[in-house]
Amino acid sequence: MSRVGNFFRSLLLLELLGGMRLTFKYLWRDKYTLMYPMEKTPQSPRFRGLHALRRYPNGEERCIACKLCEAVCPALAITIDSAQREDGTRRTTRYDIDLFKCIYCGFCEESCPVDSIVETHIHEYHFENRGENIVSKPQLLALGDRLEAEIAERRATDAAYR
Ligand code: SF4
Ligand code: SF4
Repeated sequence: MSRVGNFFRSLLLLELLGGMRLTFKYLWRDKYTLMYPMEKTPQSPRFRGLHALRRYPNGEERCIACKLCEAVCPALAITIDSAQREDGTRRTTRYDIDLFKCIYCGFCEESCPVDSIVETHIHEYHFENRGENIVSKPQLLALGDRLEAEIAERRATDAAYR
């Protein structure tokens, strides 16, 4: 019986008419089109975009090279080398993130015990040359320096839910 019904439904183009009914229903209503990039939707403080490495207020880098972020990264996008400094502390000598591999899951940020690696609001970026997809430690630190005020504000806003 259902096969006969399907036959007549397809013969009478009922699905097409249903679609057209929906089209005409919204034809004269206000449109929701956003004029991007002039207009943008609000962003959550938890938005996960381009990465940054943060420093403490005294200028010391936060990262202690524990490599938890490298271990937890499901895409194997993070590469860290580390060495001991003269004062006995350990710091990274290399911190690379391959943005072609990264899936912006936020696990690195969640795993970091010192709030060093974070994901910023930046999602509009591009590469022009081969290899630019690998973001290095100096680039990540520079981004952290530039956006620190905003990063701190967003983390404070979200602190109650962490
Ligand atoms: S956001 Fe996820 S995939 Fe990207 S570097 Fe961090 S842990 Fe890896
Ligand atoms: S960014 Fe955080 S989790 Fe990754 S190595 Fe540095 S301190 Fe460890």
